[in-house]
Amino acid sequence: MSFDTLGLAEPLLRAVHEQGYTTPTPIQAQAIPLVLTGGDLLGGAQTGTGKTAGFVLPMLQRLMAAQPAPRPRGSTAVRALILTPTRELAAQVEESVRNYGKYARLSSMVMFGGVGMQPQVDRLKRGVDILVATPGRLLDHHGQGTVDLSRIEIFVLDEADRMLDMGFIHDIRKVLAIVPKQKQSLLFSATFSDEIKALAERLLNKPALVEV
Ligand code: AMP
Repeated sequence: MSFDTLGLAEPLLRAVHEQGYTTPTPIQAQAIPLVLTGGDLLGGAQTGTGKTAGFVLPMLQRLMAAQPAPRPRGSTAVRALILTPTRELAAQVEESVRNYGKYARLSSMVMFGGVGMQPQVDRLKRGVDILVATPGRLLDHHGQGTVDLSRIEIFVLDEADRMLDMGFIHDIRKVLAIVPKQKQSLLFSATFSDEIKALAERLLNKPALVEV
């Protein structure tokens, strides 16, 4: 099995090859073609399985293929939102977005709490396609009107079980109420409690199921 047969565009394949990957991991082989179709996905995968590339690569391709209306100067609208439980994971996922997207002409930003708001506002105003964020700081920005979540095309909840363990359920519900109903949604979790199933039910529309 090679990356070349998964339906990924050349700029993404080039970045993958530069990372030194030759064979997709099982979650990548299953998730990439599914996410490329535009459907929702429920992914059961631990960290270390390659799940990040499994959602980042097809997400980049879908964003490259879509032609959004030009972004007005100073707009803080983002096209994709990835929520993660911790700053460390947010930073790591955003680094993956930059690595895999290095030939994709899309911009990304990582956002978390514990640092100043204003530099984040300035960055948002310069234009961000893919925002990787922890829930609390994202809601702070939304509350202050400094991020526009009304044009989200793709929404990813990464490590959903850890988010619930960390007490983020209320924040997640708030974010779900803010983002547009019409969007592609992906949920990844290592475990599937009733609470995760309820969250998946609420967020996902006829999801494909991938478990590794
Ligand atoms: P993740 O589970 O997404 O955190 O990825 C775990 C690690 O596997 C990361 O260090 C990736 O760089 C690496 N990785 C992801 N996909 C592949 C692949 N297809 N071949 C080799 N290494 C990979």
